[in-house]
Amino acid sequence: MDALIKSLRPANTSELKATETKPLDVRPAELDPSEFLAAAVRPDQPRPSRSEAEAAVQTLLSYIGEDTGREGLLDTPRRVVEAFDELYQGYHQCPAEVLDRTFGETAGYDDFVLVRDIEFTSQCEHHMMPFYGRAHIAYTPVERVVGLSKLARLTDIFARRLQTQEHLTAQIAAAIDEVLKPRGVAVLIEAEHTCMSVRGVAKHGAMTFTSRYTGMFRDNPAEQARFMSLVRSPQR
Ligand code: ZN
Repeated sequence: MDALIKSLRPANTSELKATETKPLDVRPAELDPSEFLAAAVRPDQPRPSRSEAEAAVQTLLSYIGEDTGREGLLDTPRRVVEAFDELYQGYHQCPAEVLDRTFGETAGYDDFVLVRDIEFTSQCEHHMMPFYGRAHIAYTPVERVVGLSKLARLTDIFARRLQTQEHLTAQIAAAIDEVLKPRGVAVLIEAEHTCMSVRGVAKHGAMTFTSRYTGMFRDNPAEQARFMSLVRSPQR
């Protein structure tokens, strides 16, 4: 797996030359397989300590004009760092592992599997403010199917990292594509960005839609349309 990751995304231009025979356009340049297959942080990677992180929160509190010594704020740095541990736990989780346990018993099933309305909350990488909404994921299995809850788990792993909505959409599709090798994947995400609803232009309720299609969904607009109509069909 390591070798594959390196050859698909060369670290510098001299390596790029060496791997030119590989079609580099199979995947958009921004998508690094190490992002969608492995945990983003290696356990041995050096990180600031917990108390350093808490001190950084104190600096931000002072920056906004707060008295960091007042009673209500005494435990705030600790709570903020704990909240970060939760919101950003996706850095330490491995997307490929979630999709690892598959089932071969498809009983000849040959249509796509759709899981819609997967709720998620993520944090935008530009402002570190939440964006939240729903993901709809379909894939057409070839032989192996995955437990349905795993698509929700996969969404959470990527959502619990700093993200752009476009990147989140692409990473979910790429991980399913890479691990399950289905005939195609369709991912649609609709989300509201608090960096847009509570600051900046301050527009509440504006929804952002992003989609990603691979394989048969990319090649066949009729399949995209069928996916969209199932996603859009009224709730029962
Ligand atoms: Zn933002």
